[in-house]
Amino acid sequence: MTTPFLWHNGCIKPWTEATVHVSTHALHYGSSVFEGERVYATPQGPAYFRLADHTRRLFASARVYEIEIGYREDEINAACLELIRANRMKSAYVRPIVFRGAGGLGVLPSDDTPVDVAIMALDWGAYLGSAIERGADVCVSSWQRPAPNTFPSWAKAGGNYLSSQLIALEARRGGYAEGIALGHNGLLSEGAGENLFLVKNGKLVTPPTSAGILAGITRESVITLAADLGIEVEERDLPREALYCADEVFMTGTAAEITPVRSVDRKAVGAGNPGPITKALQRAFFGLFDGSTEDRWGWLTAVHDK
Ligand code: PMP
Repeated sequence: MTTPFLWHNGCIKPWTEATVHVSTHALHYGSSVFEGERVYATPQGPAYFRLADHTRRLFASARVYEIEIGYREDEINAACLELIRANRMKSAYVRPIVFRGAGGLGVLPSDDTPVDVAIMALDWGAYLGSAIERGADVCVSSWQRPAPNTFPSWAKAGGNYLSSQLIALEARRGGYAEGIALGHNGLLSEGAGENLFLVKNGKLVTPPTSAGILAGITRESVITLAADLGIEVEERDLPREALYCADEVFMTGTAAEITPVRSVDRKAVGAGNPGPITKALQRAFFGLFDGSTEDRWGWLTAVHDK
């Protein structure tokens, strides 16, 4: 799964040469912020999807935790593109990560605790495998998402993913592809690594970004594409049972892209197959990469100079 090169603290290096010390702060205290991004093969060559938006979110996450990145946003954007070129990749899943590095063992990082920045690019297909076509079987998790003012959900921080691991591990143990968590208030929040959408009577509904969820970039792209297709979208609080009464359910994320959900807690969603609105949004989304959807939003960045 590895690639020849990664980017680490300003240089392209062989994958095997970027190692960390066991005293690394992030290893002990979860003090990392990161992104998940994709490069798609398009007829014009590899193109990065919403690179600048991902980098902006990376910096916002770092700001919440007072982690000084040490590079500008445009330098990180350039490094991401350089890495794809160095690895000669046509498509990729890209993982920039910023973390407090090796030093003392105090929770409170000292002023001289270094901050490491690395970018990895992997060859990674559909996150939930064939579910992207036939639909995923998911469950509602017994684990709830942290309440607001505990772990800030807008920051994509390493520590948050302990919650995601509990949700995903429980789902796997039960034979499900993924788990959907309720928020601290018992209302729907998101999947372990995806945002959640429901379709009811031709309308798209999704929990608001105040529902303890990550403000997903794919989520925002889907809302934009839906509006473009004339599909009404409402962001509002939803109870668990909305999942069981929905005509369609799907999940969105950089890794998961747009993955239909065909059952929740072993109850079929609609007819038990991906529904027409989910499919229309998949077509619009993937059309960005085969050229059938015009990129009117400037979401794509060519990896190679023209
Ligand atoms: N929620 C969580 C918890 C996630 O990890 C992700 C994946 N980054 C998402 C939602 C979807 O976000 P995005 O569309 O920006 O990848």
